[in-house]
Amino acid sequence: MAIERTFSIVKPDAVAKNVIGQIYNRFETAGLTIIASKMVHLSKEQAEGFYAEHSERPFFGALVEFMTSGPVMVQVLEGENAVLKNREIMGATNPAEALAGTLRADYANSIDENAVHGSDALESAAREIAYFFSDEEICPRTR
Ligand code: ADP
Ligand code: MG
Repeated sequence: MAIERTFSIVKPDAVAKNVIGQIYNRFETAGLTIIASKMVHLSKEQAEGFYAEHSERPFFGALVEFMTSGPVMVQVLEGENAVLKNREIMGATNPAEALAGTLRADYANSIDENAVHGSDALESAAREIAYFFSDEEICPRTR
């Protein structure tokens, strides 16, 4: 299995619930390494740009409003099979369908406020990482 990087967001609902550390613990326990991390309060333009692929969907306005409603944590996760592994840790988009023990089953309020984002493929991961982090902000382990 290849060592991959994926992009993750702890969304405003989960930050407001004070569970950043619990979510980071899930990543680390699953063998993913946090190699970049910061807190940001997204502007409308940043949120619209990040979710541009969904701009024609009926929920787009609500999604942008939610993602700008409070600060988020953005992070780069590295590890074996990181893209798929993070999606498994997150669980299904709709928390009502998310498997027990996944982040969305445990922390999401609804499909609109679903606690975390994770890249869905290697190509989107590279694009999303570059959207938020410069090369200098990414710190692979040296020990
Ligand atoms: P995921 O975050 O699991 O990759 P999508 O990429 O399909 O899911 O959608 C992006 C985000 O848009 C979701 O995490 C969710 O917050 C929101 N969303 C998706 N589908 C719906 C929906 N039917 N109603 C409301 N919000 C939705
Ligand atoms: Mg998605």
